[in-house]
Amino acid sequence: MAISVTLPISPKTFGGYDDPIFRERVKGSILREVGPWSRKPLLNASIILKFGLSGNRFRDGNDLDNLAKLVLDALSLEVKSKGTTWRGYGIIRNDSDVLDLVLIKRVAQPEYIKILVYPREEEEEFRGAILKELFGERSTKTGIQKKYVVFEDLYKATGPKVHSADCLYYKRWLKNPTTTTTWHGPFDALEEARRICERLSIKGKWKCSEHSCVGR
Ligand SMILES: [Zn+2]
Repeated sequence: MAISVTLPISPKTFGGYDDPIFRERVKGSILREVGPWSRKPLLNASIILKFGLSGNRFRDGNDLDNLAKLVLDALSLEVKSKGTTWRGYGIIRNDSDVLDLVLIKRVAQPEYIKILVYPREEEEEFRGAILKELFGERSTKTGIQKKYVVFEDLYKATGPKVHSADCLYYKRWLKNPTTTTTWHGPFDALEEARRICERLSIKGKWKCSEHSCVGR
């Protein structure tokens, strides 16, 4: 069980003071993208945070540790601040339960925050995703052309999504294919996957979208 999500939010640095508004934005965005964390907080969490920053704010003041702080707070069960308790996303109890923390920043426009959280004991399953984030596309699947799949959710009306065939959501489904969700493909070309996605969209008057695994 894990979450993998890219938030269309400009990263913010912790400058020694708390930022409840940013925390709330990060939490709200995760809730919209992946829904609530309905389990207990992970006690052995591994976390990868990747920050996309525009070129003009890439260096001065945007230290990775400071960029990470507010996001880790948003992922926590609760944050005590000025006598009040704020409830966070709750996938971890607090920072002290994090066993692995990988921080990456890259120049990007638009800016983004990418978050991958999984239990330490599932590390093997996520090794490909970790290597991909750290060293790019080539290290994981040398010489193998990227393929694409289309996710059609028959239960929730979120609409179809194009994914990379490397996506951990697709891989997890392959391990235990359920009949309530359907995956189309794999397709060799992204265009083909998009076409299928569009066709499925019209059927349920949704909008076809792309999971963050496709682009980055
Ligand atoms: Zn995906």
